[in-house]
Parts: sequence; C-alpha cells; structure tokens
Amino acid sequence: MPTAAAGTGLVFNIQKYSLHDGPGIRTIVFLKGCPLRCLWCANPEGLLPVPQTGRDNRACLGCGACAAACPAGLHRMRPGPDGIGPHRGDRAGACLGCGACVAACPAGALTLWGRPMTVAEVLDVVSQDEAFYRTSGGGVTLGGGEAGLQPAFAGALLAACRDQGFHTALETCGCLPWPTLAALAGRADLTLYDLKHANDAAHTRLTGRSNATILDNLGRLARTGAALLVRLPLVPGYNDDPAALTAALDRIRGLCGQAPGFQGVELLPYHAFGAGKYDRLGLAYPLAGLRSHTPAALAALETLARASDLPVTLVRPQA
Ligand code: SF4
Ligand code: SF4
Repeated sequence: MPTAAAGTGLVFNIQKYSLHDGPGIRTIVFLKGCPLRCLWCANPEGLLPVPQTGRDNRACLGCGACAAACPAGLHRMRPGPDGIGPHRGDRAGACLGCGACVAACPAGALTLWGRPMTVAEVLDVVSQDEAFYRTSGGGVTLGGGEAGLQPAFAGALLAACRDQGFHTALETCGCLPWPTLAALAGRADLTLYDLKHANDAAHTRLTGRSNATILDNLGRLARTGAALLVRLPLVPGYNDDPAALTAALDRIRGLCGQAPGFQGVELLPYHAFGAGKYDRLGLAYPLAGLRSHTPAALAALETLARASDLPVTLVRPQA
C-alpha cells in the first residue's frame, strides 16, 4: 500500500478556525493513521495510513468517469441498462492518492482523504491565518488519526511552525513508543492527551488496544514538566458512568496532579458528526443510533468531574 514519500506527510484535512484544540483560533492539520479503533471515532477517514476516497452515494450519477480516470482501477461500476451504472462499492485497494477520480467526477461526489504534502506546503496553508493566531493567542495543532504515526513529518512540521512563531499543539492518543511521544511533545507548546478509559479491559474493548502504554506515557510526559491538557471523551453508555469518570479522574490526578505543566482536564462529549463519513467509506457506523447527552446529563457529568478538584472544562462540540 502506498504511503507518503520521504519528506512528505499524508494529510487528510487542514481545518481552519478551530476553537477547541488548544488556545485561541487554530488550524488543525490532520495526519493519517491511528493505532486505536475507538468505536465512536469521528474521523474514520484518518484511521488507515494510506490514501482513501470517499463517495457520496446520493450525489453519484453513475457516470463512470471516476472508473475511467483511476489508474489503479479502484472504482468499479455495477452493470446498468446502458452498460454502466452506480458504483458497486468495491473501492478497497491501493489508492495512489492522485486525485484523478475526484477531478473527473462531474457531481462532486468524491473526496480524497490522504494527500502527500511537504512541510512547506502545509506551512503555506497554515500561515494564511497568522493574523488570527496573533490576535487570538492561537496557533497550529497536529491531530489525526495519530500524528505520532508519522513522527518525522510531524516533528518537522512542529519545528517549522515554531520557527514561524506559531503556538504549537500536539493532539495524541498516547499509544506510541515513549521516545516518539517525548520527541514530538518536546517540539509542541502544549500536548492534548486523550484518555478513553482508565480500566484496561474496558479500554481494550472500546478502542482495540490496552491502555497500559497510554497511562505509562502520560505519567512520563507529566514528569517532564511539559504543558499538558488531558482530554476525556464522554460516550453515553460506554465510558460516562460515574464510576468510570471518577476512576479516570483519579488516575489523572495520580499521574499528573502535581506536575508543573498540567493544565487540567477537558471533557469532550460524544457527537455523531463523523457518522456520514463511514457511509462515504462504505463502512457501518459502530454506534449507529446512539444519542448525544442531554444538557442535564452533561451538567451532571461536569458537576461530578469538578468534584475531583482538578481544573475541568466541558468542551461543547464544534461541528
Ligand atoms: S485518488 Fe487516484 S488512485 Fe485513488 S481512487 Fe482516485 S483515481 Fe484511483
Ligand atoms: S465520477 Fe462521480 S458521479 Fe460519476 S460514477 Fe464516479 S462518483 Fe459517481
């Protein structure tokens, strides 16, 4: 499977005007590939470390232009009355990330997720909002996927952003070799560190991976004195019961509570904004039908978290 060439990173989105991934107004650079498989993942297009295309089946005209354009033969059409018809849906394979199908589609039905970009190319885009960073105290955040799966590119991009005087943040799931995480966090002004569940068995069930490395790395990172915010996704019925939330906060207090760089905990309520992307990828959304918290339920969780005496912020979802 093709990945990004040396000197480039595989970027699946650059999102401007973000208000929730570090201080001020920020640009988020999303890098492809993630070691976890969280049931509630809002960025399924970022999981695999390879280019992928998504298709909006409601917009597709069944014209076959994408199949004709694709050098890898990844768009296959179902035979119709005129010999051509809607996609058969079989797009698994070695996408080259060339974008030919997206350019050929007359309906705008296709999206390419995973474009090889150089640090200079990304810097060109993020620099467009320099004035916003300056006036708001914002900057650039690396997210994903897991940026740490592209460590050379992520490190170079963080360094380049710093050279420009931009505030830098690293958003991480923490499921990385410690030297990789330490090197990247060392180049960021702030690390946003996710913890999905304090219980190892539950964490494994919900994300596909043990939390042992994640907790170990969190403690190590805190001891370096790095600026650190720990983020807890709250998923109704999965990790938001009082015992689970209290256990997570207790672990965070034990690992980070006395650390000089620890800034607090952010609660990230579940949302289903990413559900449509599963459909575009031809995947089933694992949490189909799950409802977000009611305002009353969120208020109760916030009250419970604040009782931990840790600095707690409830982050409202930004579509
Ligand atoms: S991006 Fe290129 S290789 Fe990938 S599906 Fe589209 S045309 Fe084919
Ligand atoms: S080019 Fe676009 S509209 Fe035509 S078959 Fe492909 S996805 Fe559908």
